Amino acid sequence: MARYTGPVCRLCRREGDKLFLKGDRCYTSKCSFDRKPYAPGMHGKKRGKMSDFALQLREKQKVRRMYGMLEKAFVTQFDHASNERGVTAELFLRRLELRFDNVVFRMGLAVNRNEARQLIRHKHFLLNGQTCNIPSRQLKIGDKVAVKEGSRKLNSFTLAKEIYLRRPAVSWAQCESDSLTGEIVALPSRDDIPLALKDHMIVEYYSK
Ligand code: SF4
Repeated sequence: MARYTGPVCRLCRREGDKLFLKGDRCYTSKCSFDRKPYAPGMHGKKRGKMSDFALQLREKQKVRRMYGMLEKAFVTQFDHASNERGVTAELFLRRLELRFDNVVFRMGLAVNRNEARQLIRHKHFLLNGQTCNIPSRQLKIGDKVAVKEGSRKLNSFTLAKEIYLRRPAVSWAQCESDSLTGEIVALPSRDDIPLALKDHMIVEYYSK
């Protein structure tokens, strides 16, 4: 599966917000965005006035990069959301939050979404008692996630547990960090996404 493998702190600086794409570093003073809160490159400090289209594009890129998705998968999720009844922007963000890789990250079972995706692909997780290696799987209320018995001693989970204690927990995905299990107890709301976003711009971008 294709994925972005370049420097990730550049992405935060490009989008003008912390996207939490690393692990420990995002929560310390070593964070590149905290130290250099302007766009990368020679002219990064001189960002001019942006057009409406450029603003919409940046909002879309910010969310896509935060969830570590390629454009095709991102558009597919948007199409599903726009075919459902309700506010498209909220339904879209909810679909992104309920992806298996994001749930694993939110439960504190991986240091970031990239690692969550890799751990899932390598079959370290059970979903409702069955092995699931599909990071894009949509989860629902009542779904139970667990780290496989034989995988619990991996360093990744020890590190993830330490970092999780420093992250704000989300109420919709509960986790027992001792047993490395978790359950979805509610649907994620817009307030659960700690990112300054103008979600309507993403809808406008794809509605052209
Ligand atoms: Fe890098 Fe994390 Fe800071 Fe983003 S939030 S700039 S990924 S350390």
